[in-house]
Amino acid sequence: MSTSGSGNGILEGFFGSVSGSVERWTGIELNLSTVLLVVGVVPVLLGLRAAGRIHRTVRSGLSLLSGPGTVSRAAVKHIMENCEPGNPEMALKCADELDASGKHFLIHIGEEKGRLFDSAVREHRPTVVLELGGYFGYSALRVARLLSADDNAKLYSMEINKECAESCRTLLKFCGMDDRAEVLNCAAQDGIAEFRERTGRSSVDMVVLDHWKPLYLPDLKRLEASGLMHPGTVVLADNILYPGVPDYKEYVTTSPKYRTVMHTCKMTSFTGVETDDSVSVSVYLGEQSDR
Ligand code: MG
Repeated sequence: MSTSGSGNGILEGFFGSVSGSVERWTGIELNLSTVLLVVGVVPVLLGLRAAGRIHRTVRSGLSLLSGPGTVSRAAVKHIMENCEPGNPEMALKCADELDASGKHFLIHIGEEKGRLFDSAVREHRPTVVLELGGYFGYSALRVARLLSADDNAKLYSMEINKECAESCRTLLKFCGMDDRAEVLNCAAQDGIAEFRERTGRSSVDMVVLDHWKPLYLPDLKRLEASGLMHPGTVVLADNILYPGVPDYKEYVTTSPKYRTVMHTCKMTSFTGVETDDSVSVSVYLGEQSDR
């Protein structure tokens, strides 16, 4: 008798004993080939899944290490090479596909949150929009494409990183939105203080917060103090749960100055795992409500 034959005999004997017990307890008859297939395939699938996550995490890490300027330039270059000019919808879709490919960790709002932004713009029809944090221009493009071309409506995006600001401008121009969106390369704190002077606008109807998370609340309070917001100004804020802005969330959900609705949505985390996040939509009710 060969060694392998003996091995098979032992395996079959052991399996017969185990499958007999399983059948007695559960009434289910096990098949040796099926069991061997499952035992072999499951670890392979788990390994592939883990490898996919490791690959995504490494890609995300490299994206972050290369800096937002490099990633924003790469994203806009990809869009310009793969989309037709003057087509915002195509550019947005192309950015979503690039992010899904895992080639770059874009940390943009994406399609699901983007639809929430679209609904807010369609519902409130803002004339002046102020965005804090432009990155490569995805959300600026998303909002600007829905602004009315007839009533002097415009989005002003404040982006502190010079390369990101340039990418943002390039994308908006490529998509034919440069008449409805202007990028200001400045820190939000300075831009808010100089907003009237730099834009000739006296108030804002919508604010989009998607910049440095610890600055959400201080910059919202700067906007309140500046007098730029009026009762009815809508404040959209991304990443309420992931990475999270608990102080901002607490403020807009408890202050009588705001009526806030939280929209739960999904986003892809640093490691490529789908994670819960929220976008908040807050309507500013005015300072007189804080009593
Ligand atoms: Mg964000």
